[in-house]
Amino acid sequence: MTKSRLTAATVAMVATAGLLLTGCAGGAAGAGDSGEKKLTFMFRGGPDEQKAYEKAVGEFEEANGVDVNIIVTTADQYPTKLKAAIAGRQIPDVFYIGPGDLQAYVKNGIVKDITEYVEGSDTIDLDNIWDHGVDSYRFDGELIGQGAIYALPKDVGPFSFGYNKTMFEAAGIPLPDVDEPYTLEEFVDVAKQLTKDTNGDGTLDQWGTGLNVQWNLQPFVWGNGADWLNEDRTKVTVDTPEFAEALQWFADLQNVHGVTPSVGEAQTLDTYQRWMKGEIGFFPVAPWDLSTYEKLDFEWDTIPYPAGVSGETSAWIGTLGIAVSNSTKHPDEAVKLVEYLTANEEAQQTLVDAGIQIPNLKDMAETWAADTSTMPANKQEFLQIVTDYGRGLPGGNTYNGEWYDEFFTNIQPVIDGKMTAADYLAEVQPKMQAFLDSANQQAGIGG
Ligand code: CA
Repeated sequence: MTKSRLTAATVAMVATAGLLLTGCAGGAAGAGDSGEKKLTFMFRGGPDEQKAYEKAVGEFEEANGVDVNIIVTTADQYPTKLKAAIAGRQIPDVFYIGPGDLQAYVKNGIVKDITEYVEGSDTIDLDNIWDHGVDSYRFDGELIGQGAIYALPKDVGPFSFGYNKTMFEAAGIPLPDVDEPYTLEEFVDVAKQLTKDTNGDGTLDQWGTGLNVQWNLQPFVWGNGADWLNEDRTKVTVDTPEFAEALQWFADLQNVHGVTPSVGEAQTLDTYQRWMKGEIGFFPVAPWDLSTYEKLDFEWDTIPYPAGVSGETSAWIGTLGIAVSNSTKHPDEAVKLVEYLTANEEAQQTLVDAGIQIPNLKDMAETWAADTSTMPANKQEFLQIVTDYGRGLPGGNTYNGEWYDEFFTNIQPVIDGKMTAADYLAEVQPKMQAFLDSANQQAGIGG
């Protein structure tokens, strides 16, 4: 979940780049040490996340008599650093892995099959961890989602939708129903009512919404009955009328309905900042936003995304996994660390209290969601995304995500109203298909 808006918060981590290759060199072996076993754990995250994980790892060291050398990077830097470590054969014992990289890492023998460890473990109950989380790291040689386990979820990330309750109340607009998603028409209608020049100086100060195409288009496409791929992941399906309708609607929010900040206004101050200042009515809410949104000086809550012709709300759900290197000298301890970070109650409490994720454990999450006294009151929406209607990002289930990235590479003219969605989709489909064919070929399946 590399999110552009997270990068501003994470600075000064570039220094770890140099540490990676040198720092790992001693840590990986640990052979010279008498007694204490050493592990290297490489992960990524912003300052809140780093602090929370350092605390959890410290507790693990204490309880297990294992020394853990931590290497941490920003989200943006992480893929490059990990690839460098792999290329230099200084693979950390334990490290984060995205579902989109799993197939390649399995095929190249980088990550360890930990099925036997975790299925027979007496310290972890797989049934109490979200299915989406565990299944994202199963791979049977052809498809993700089934087969052997190559990682456990660090978290699951239901990407929910929120609204500024204070703004609704000030405008006298009925609050959205948490059980009945808006239709696309209702959503535009409310967004128009929220778009206002509040001080009468002739320029807008408040907008209905302000969504980023890369992170927010998915619920509207799925909710309109369209998708990026066919079921067996061999055909790119973006060139359908339902898909075009959803993308056009998304672009029209700005170009036809004027319910988002203009391109210029968004450049002055991006919509994430404007949401936090209370200028935006509807905005996404992810679990990793909670620590930041706690400090907002307006009331907000989560709701289901508006639904298109399917009538069903939808949302994407991310996840990051924690894997064990195939070359670790201490597989038992490495798996123990993975289990600890994934499922230890104390560790989970540390991470949840830090406001960076929802609980990984089903029973703990129910208790967490039952507390409606803290925002968002509707924490249930997160759990419903996880258990009911959330879907993985399209690029996560294929050998690589190049075909999916291509979708967004030249999409800006559509968002700017300079090209129709239908024209764009007809043009981009063959390019995406070529990338997908190539990915499937590398994976040895399909095409
Ligand atoms: Ca104004």
